[in-house]
Amino acid sequence: MECMLCPRRCGVDRSVTKGFCHMGDKIKVAKTMLHMWEEPLISTRLPEKSPFSCDEEDTPCKKQQFDTDSAENACSAAERAENARQSVDKTQNVRGSVNKTENTRRSVDNSENTRGSVDKTENMQGCTEKNEGQGGSGAIFFSGCSLGCVYCQNRDIRSGEIGKEISVRELADEMLALQDMGAYNINLVTPTHFADKIAESVSLIRDKLKIPIVYNTSGYELPETIERVSEFVDIFLTDMKYFSPEVSAKYSFAPDYYLYAKKSLGKMIEAQPKVIIKDGLMKKGVIMRHLVLPGLRKDSIKILEDVSINYDISSFKLSLMSQYTPSFCPDKYGELKRKITTFEYQSVLERAVELGYDGYMQDISSSTSLYTPDFRSQDR
Ligand code: SF4
Repeated sequence: MECMLCPRRCGVDRSVTKGFCHMGDKIKVAKTMLHMWEEPLISTRLPEKSPFSCDEEDTPCKKQQFDTDSAENACSAAERAENARQSVDKTQNVRGSVNKTENTRRSVDNSENTRGSVDKTENMQGCTEKNEGQGGSGAIFFSGCSLGCVYCQNRDIRSGEIGKEISVRELADEMLALQDMGAYNINLVTPTHFADKIAESVSLIRDKLKIPIVYNTSGYELPETIERVSEFVDIFLTDMKYFSPEVSAKYSFAPDYYLYAKKSLGKMIEAQPKVIIKDGLMKKGVIMRHLVLPGLRKDSIKILEDVSINYDISSFKLSLMSQYTPSFCPDKYGELKRKITTFEYQSVLERAVELGYDGYMQDISSSTSLYTPDFRSQDR
């Protein structure tokens, strides 16, 4: 059968050849593990007083999770934006920089000076804290990828070289095993090119699987594939990587990335129109994840603005990430061979707050390979 699962529309018979995703028609899994470093609402129960906590069960979270202070010291969106601006100013003062333009030197040597400033301003539950003693997200990392970003931090599995071929039944058993280990959910990481097989696996255990299923995707999806998987997916965790066709063509060979990612986000919201949190964990809903890239803060802001015009942003969460790690990027993309600056991240965060997004941010010290699983280890 010709594969048309994603916008690449390779049209190949994967039983005899491979498409852009590097995968044949057998499910291939690189790793399964209890993942503690995903967004807090899917990988850890949050303490009662956390800025992420909710007042009632089965209701959308009411708090503005971009709050940079405790609940007792909550400030308005405008004040938060001003705080963020002042933090950026302080950072620039500390560095004694008179150059307000973004430059590479600032990003290379600012990490220690700026981190304190960010920590003070954003005293919130970030994605970088250890969640020891928690169940974690039951992650299943699939080999191969239908997007293939040049800076991919999971490059070991993107090429499809690492992993083990398993049957539909074995995948179902892996899901049940993760549930038995105490996983809070089944987190299908980069699942698109196996979407049809995953649907078969879930159908085998639908009555036994009691935890939510997370569809953790690059965002480069066909709306019709999202409609199909919506039958069994409870939580969509979707990237929204680029706005500009030139940028997505350059870094992911997909000039139509935003076109498809935006339409597919709409389908996800249609399927899960409300964030449901119970006992500190997300049970249903959509999280839109965005990784700020070096030199591309304006592209990030365009995404936030366009999505806010086209969708009800109160119906999902935003996860704004700073963990871009340049070491995974080939030298020929020299402009990506640095971490993002505090200025870049803060300016995107500030715009998110102004637009009224609700969600998570990361401490800028998250820009490290420590949060990348070791796909060569078989430890769960
Ligand atoms: S899933 Fe793979 S083979 Fe199928 S259309 Fe997408 S990239 Fe091509």
